[in-house]
Amino acid sequence: SRAALFDAENRVKITFSDVAGLDEAKEEIKEVVDFLKSPDKFTNLGGKIPKGVLLVGPPGTGKTLLAKAVAGEAGVPFFTLSGSDFVEMFVGVGAARVRDLFKQAKEKAPCIVFIDEIDAVGRSRGKGAMPGANDERENTLNSLLVEMDGFATDSGVIIMAATNRPDVLDPALLRPGRFDRQISVDKPDIVGREAIFRVHLKPLKLAGDVDAKKIAAQTPGFAGAEIANVCNEAALIAARRNKHAIDMQDFQDAIDRVIGGLEKKNKIISPEE
Ligand code: ATP
Repeated sequence: SRAALFDAENRVKITFSDVAGLDEAKEEIKEVVDFLKSPDKFTNLGGKIPKGVLLVGPPGTGKTLLAKAVAGEAGVPFFTLSGSDFVEMFVGVGAARVRDLFKQAKEKAPCIVFIDEIDAVGRSRGKGAMPGANDERENTLNSLLVEMDGFATDSGVIIMAATNRPDVLDPALLRPGRFDRQISVDKPDIVGREAIFRVHLKPLKLAGDVDAKKIAAQTPGFAGAEIANVCNEAALIAARRNKHAIDMQDFQDAIDRVIGGLEKKNKIISPEE
């Protein structure tokens, strides 16, 4: 059924405390929480509340998490849509789905609409990689632009979108009144990684030798998603070893396993190497 295609989580429990190591992005995005919570404060002075915020950064850095945290902090519903859902879609369905989503969002305002992988649908028109699939993608993109232009800035709907390819986006998406704000969500440095580890270590049963700082030093280049993965793998490894607490050796082995997984993934992406 069509309704099942968007999951409107009416109560998002995620808050900024779940998002670690993205201090600048969090600081910038706090403004959106204020727009949702007290729009009058801004519109009373004649200001126009932005409609669209683009989160830019590599995979797994916490873009979805950050968008959800905004909904959680503001206490508003969160509607999601993924650009990749529109690949291989029947004619007319993508555009209809966008219209439906915006209709629901307007009814539930104030709220957030989150579009993950917007580049899948928002590539420059006429430059698509997949011939044939292109017309439908363009229809979907056009309906997104029409919907964005069609609602008032004071409607209480804020659209957040995520991409790791801002360079391929159709410039029409970035015009004033559309996604005219960009926030970068980068891979964490060692301090950021330690903070993210602390979040994901919290629910685990740890041995006394576990040292978040040391683990962070051993995981250069890891994004938040990989850090979460390491913590979970370490718990599974320790369980298989019938331990009662997860120790540093388990983390070491988990890091190796996650690195191994990443290498495999890279090989699939670039088989010529
Ligand atoms: P993609 O672009 O691949 O969709 P993303 O940037 O949206 O990735 P998320 O889906 O938000 O990344 O991150 C995946 C998971 O990784 C989160 O649910 C969380 O468990 C963990 N994670 C990522 N970044 C952070 C962070 N900054 N702090 C805490 N956890 C994080």
